[in-house]
Amino acid sequence: MTETTLDFDVVVVGGGPGGYVAAIRAAQLGLRVACVEKWRDPAGQPALGGTCLNVGCIPSKALLDSSHLYATLTGKGLAEHGIAVAEIHLDLARMMARKDKVVRTLTVGIAGLFKKHGIRWLQGEARLLGPGRVRVTPTGDAPASAAASPTSPASPAGASAAPTAPVEPVEPVELTCRHIVLATGSEPIPLSAAPVDGARIVDSTGALAFAEVPKTLGVIGAGVIGLELGSVWRRLGAQVVVLEALPAFLPMVEEEIAAAALKSLSRQGLDIRLGARLIATQVTAAGVEVRYEQGGKTESLICERLVVAVGRRPYTAGLGLAAVGLACDARGFLPVNRYGETAVPGIHAVGDVAGPPLLAHKASEEGVVVAERIAGQKSEIDHRRIPFVVYTWPEIAWVGQTSAELTAMGRAFRVGSFPFLANGRAKAAGEKEGMVKILADAETDEILGVHLFGPNASELIAEAVTAMEFGAASEDLARTVHAHPTLAEALHEAALAVDGRPLHI
Ligand code: FAD
Ligand code: NAD
Repeated sequence: MTETTLDFDVVVVGGGPGGYVAAIRAAQLGLRVACVEKWRDPAGQPALGGTCLNVGCIPSKALLDSSHLYATLTGKGLAEHGIAVAEIHLDLARMMARKDKVVRTLTVGIAGLFKKHGIRWLQGEARLLGPGRVRVTPTGDAPASAAASPTSPASPAGASAAPTAPVEPVEPVELTCRHIVLATGSEPIPLSAAPVDGARIVDSTGALAFAEVPKTLGVIGAGVIGLELGSVWRRLGAQVVVLEALPAFLPMVEEEIAAAALKSLSRQGLDIRLGARLIATQVTAAGVEVRYEQGGKTESLICERLVVAVGRRPYTAGLGLAAVGLACDARGFLPVNRYGETAVPGIHAVGDVAGPPLLAHKASEEGVVVAERIAGQKSEIDHRRIPFVVYTWPEIAWVGQTSAELTAMGRAFRVGSFPFLANGRAKAAGEKEGMVKILADAETDEILGVHLFGPNASELIAEAVTAMEFGAASEDLARTVHAHPTLAEALHEAALAVDGRPLHI
């Protein structure tokens, strides 16, 4: 039987935030686009959105928001507002169902956008046959295992809505095209000393889907996932111990802010143990016994469940890179130039698979740039202006360089800080923790880095990114009128403080 062949201008492999955004932008520019995606949701339905929408950014933020509400209601803060709540009851099943609904609404929304833009969504696994040639093999239901790979998302059973764009094909097809965009994402790094079994030992996907709040939870890795998901379960009542191999806490974060965050999270009950090197784990009927070494001593920890969150690695399994003469670098990433072009003309890569940082907004912006360049535009992205956020409470957010990086570069800079304690809006809201710190070039005053620890830092950082994108000096921010009373006034004050003239401290 001859295989069907379909022809496109652009074939995108992967429907995560890198791939689906590339597909939409290319279609907006008049190109004929197909997107191949193999993901199936826990009910076996094809789903777009990749890691971010299905088992990453969105479900984690849904649980962070729900658990934050719960922690607010059960904490001491409400009494201060003069509000007494008689009885609070946690319905975890409902919280999880809400999270699943949020995910489903958004993934179905992407299918709707594909329909609107005339993008062909092909369900299945893509394999490169040569430049401009891709084979799609439809994939079956997702395996029940919780061992997370991009094909096996595991979360609690939840009904799935029918996608709003037609999903094809049912038989293998061959695609021909002028351009291929690889957006195959990443997967959790496994640890041989703590193999994920989907029950007692889970990765981030499993930790988004516990059916009960564990009494005790161990987390390996005090990185972004460890702190965000550790916070969720701590707020819902688990005793959480986080084991981090490095002696420093969040070493990529401005030191003063990392120290403040460690203090705050510890106060919230996260037991973060630094310099803790995992030796072995043993699953028992009651839970997991974790042996680790800290300060030259062997220690042990017994927990009901254990989350392994020691980073993610690029995912290219089964992609057939050799058929087009492409090879990954030593860390498994696909080497690309600043425009997302690989060494093979007509083959591009975006998102997690194309190198760090492994962030959804970085993936999407790269998708836009690649699509626009395929269409003949001269677009580019400035990777130095990518914001980072850790969605703990208070949130940690930053853009640009840290003091340590600038010092190591020998660059002279001035610092302006302002605490939320002195910000009227933060005080009114009862959010007094944290600070804003702005680093500006000592001579030109150009803003080189902005570091936040505080309420809504994830939103506040946008102003700093915009300012830096426009090449602003700290004086530009200092001369910008900020609405009163707002949290953003703390940024304004930090900018004034760079020049030694804050008004409210
Ligand atoms: P992915 O989203 O991983 O999508 C890749 C897609 O390609 C997958 O759907 C996969 O099924 C498909 N695929 C792979 N190979 C093939 C093939 N051969 N054929 C067909 N399809 C294929 N980032 C943030 O910026 N903010 C956050 O708050 C945030 N929170 C996170 C929380 C968690 C728990 C996790 C795990 C990650 C989080 N991230 C967050 C990271 C974010 O999810 C990723 O950076 C982002 O999803 C990368 O997008 P991508 O398109 O490159 O890859
Ligand atoms: P991470 O790189 O942020 O943190 C992993 C941590 O594990 C590090 O601190 C590392 O030192 C530690 N570690 C490594 N091996 C260890 C071992 N054997 N024992 C103990 N500790 C060990 O990785 P992650 O938290 O798994 O997240 C993966 C990626 O997903 C992130 O890098 C980020 O790009 C993305 N993500 C982003 C967000 C966000 O933007 N808010 C949220 C979640 C995930």
